[in-house]
Amino acid sequence: MANYIVLVKQVPDVSQITDNAFDPVTGTLMRSRLASVINELDTQALATANHMKAISGDSAAKIICLTMGPPMAQEVLRYGLARCADAAVLLTDRALGGADTWATANPLSFAIQKIARDMFKNEKDYFVITGMQSVDGDTAQVPGQVAEELAAPCVAYVTDAQFKDGRFEFSRIISGGSEVAALRHRPAVITVAKYEHPLFATFGRSRWANRTELIRWSSEDIKATSIGASGSRTAVIRVFPPGKSKRKCQKIDSAADLAEVIRKSFAKGNSQAGEVSEAGPGYVLPDNRPSSLERNFEGLSKDVDDFAFLCEKLRQLGVSAPSQIDDYLKQKIISESGNRLHRKSLEDMLDGLSIAKPSYDGDVWVVAEHSDGRVHPATFELVGKARKLADCLQRQVGVVLAGLGLKEMTQELIWAGADNVYVSEHKLLEQFDPTAFRKIIADCILKYKPQIVLFAATPQGRMLAPMVSYRCQCGLTADCTGLEIRDRTRLGQIAILLQTRPALGGNVMATITTKNSICQMATARPGVMKRLAEDRTRKGKIIEHKVELTEDDLSLEIIRTEKGLGQARLDSKVIVSGGKGMQNRDNYDRLLGVLCSSLRSGLNTTVEKGASRAAVEQGFAERIVQVGQTGTSIGPKLYIAVGISGAIQHMIGVSNTETIVAINSDPSAPIFRQCDYYIVATAEEAIPQLVEAFEKD
Ligand SMILES: Cc1cc2nc3c(=O)[nH]c(=O)nc-3n(C[C@H](O)[C@H](O)[C@H](O)COP(=O)(O)OP(=O)(O)OC[C@H]3O[C@@H](n4cnc5c(N)ncnc54)[C@H](O)[C@@H]3O)c2cc1C
Repeated sequence: MANYIVLVKQVPDVSQITDNAFDPVTGTLMRSRLASVINELDTQALATANHMKAISGDSAAKIICLTMGPPMAQEVLRYGLARCADAAVLLTDRALGGADTWATANPLSFAIQKIARDMFKNEKDYFVITGMQSVDGDTAQVPGQVAEELAAPCVAYVTDAQFKDGRFEFSRIISGGSEVAALRHRPAVITVAKYEHPLFATFGRSRWANRTELIRWSSEDIKATSIGASGSRTAVIRVFPPGKSKRKCQKIDSAADLAEVIRKSFAKGNSQAGEVSEAGPGYVLPDNRPSSLERNFEGLSKDVDDFAFLCEKLRQLGVSAPSQIDDYLKQKIISESGNRLHRKSLEDMLDGLSIAKPSYDGDVWVVAEHSDGRVHPATFELVGKARKLADCLQRQVGVVLAGLGLKEMTQELIWAGADNVYVSEHKLLEQFDPTAFRKIIADCILKYKPQIVLFAATPQGRMLAPMVSYRCQCGLTADCTGLEIRDRTRLGQIAILLQTRPALGGNVMATITTKNSICQMATARPGVMKRLAEDRTRKGKIIEHKVELTEDDLSLEIIRTEKGLGQARLDSKVIVSGGKGMQNRDNYDRLLGVLCSSLRSGLNTTVEKGASRAAVEQGFAERIVQVGQTGTSIGPKLYIAVGISGAIQHMIGVSNTETIVAINSDPSAPIFRQCDYYIVATAEEAIPQLVEAFEKD
């Protein structure tokens, strides 16, 4: 008999952001000003657990809801009880506050094990079901880290579950398509990406949920090993508002004007493509700077200013070594600084000035992703980024490549910027299995000890990285859009990796550093970092990393994989994509067909059709033409999105486009805030008019 533990989280309601939620001075979104709601994907996790219980036919199975948070988080437990949960556990304690994903996954895992002991009679046959990610953190890390702590397999991005021949089969999203898989071991962690059958609460059940006593545990009750800020392996060092989109977001009122704008921007080109957020000058190690008093590579601008002031004072005083500063000189510097420095901060800065050795040792690594004998484009982008970071640190670039039949790919990785490729070949690695891959990659990291490890923030990378990082006891930052080497000299941290990422649904940016870890790990968003031009003269080493693997190391039995077949010309200069808003296959074929031929002759260029994932799932288009995070990332001169809402997973795939045009009937469609030109109209209205306007000129 299987039981279910559903992890739910209370999050700020980022769909209802009012103007007064922003700090008037810093422009940063203030989380405390937002209402609290249950994380939307966790409601789908609850519905999935309920569905699994129903289809298994096991009415005695228990569903337990678990959350970690302040006392007010009990509201999300009552939500769960009112829908399907039999009992609810609130893990609440001040000591648990301020935790990163590591120090969240750790106590949650200990609470899960206590639930299994106390409520399931130590029975191992249970599923931990969670939403794929929460809207505040957006990291998708906690489920993978929980799986690692429980030594359990993890099936990520699940969209449906079937019960066949006495076991569950899970449909899930993978790069390039979808897959149906069953589990080889229990307990197991399931993360839900989409489950479209909402659960509603009845009046009677809501009354029961409100009267039911919640089980409350403190950190003492669960005996977790890493909790709160002190148990965390990452620290947020700064939060700031996101830069304004570089896209023009200009509304166009008529199809004739839109035709004109398309013609002009296609002829002119647009320099706003590829919103790469790499900032600042290239980093120079302290030993390579002209003077030990040069500290202008600090991570925070306040520190740059403070060190500029202090170092100038030291120069004026003719002091070259901080040890020459006695109490009298310290007092003099403090009084001349106005309010800038006090004694403790001055002493920290002086101590920091005597440190030149980087805080981490080792090379910069990328974990390669590949399928069907081809390296994923995001891996090449990361190798380009790793090359830049490694050059700053005067280190080498390593790439870990695990799988079967890898030979051809090693050469390409070296041409793309790698110095060393660590190759693990094994027949059990023919298909991607998260548990087997994480074992090999973690083993390789622990053996060769790189200082930085980067993964692509693809579905595969976002599942693998949390497991690897937890296994290596390292902090991890998800979905970075900026990576740079900087110092935090006053903390004695030299040449550390600053990891910048969007949070709270893209409403704030946060810069994060790693702590209490042997190396710094991050996943980086595809399409943001730049691939280097291929250099076929580059030479590199191939290092064989031998692994012991048995069938027991596999966690999944892959039943079916559906991937796009054939060829798509998504490298054309113009791509016209249709989404779910095309309504049906006939519209998709006919309307986009006439628009493509009109653009082909009007602009005298190559034009092809693409599609959103939803359009593919509806059967409007073949899988091979899907654009986005799990389809193809494209960078045409012109991208026209028709009936596409602008989900992040779609827009990631078009971030390198020069000009984006959107046609959508919803005046508040999110894509209008991420494109250059848009028209509010249905596809059925706008396309014939646009074609007519093109043909007139
Ligand atoms: C792990 C993961 C990976 C994913 N990978 C991808 C990916 O690679 N690519 C991708 O695209 N998605 C991906 N998705 C799915 C993504 O989250 C969205 O669900 C998807 O992009 C939505 O597609 P859509 O915009 O066509 O549909 P919807 O979001 O349903 O939007 C349809 C739009 O059409 C508009 N519309 C309706 N009628 C009309 C009309 N008559 N004329 C004009 N407009 C109309 C509506 O206003 C709406 O904005 C992924 C999701 C997950 C969880």
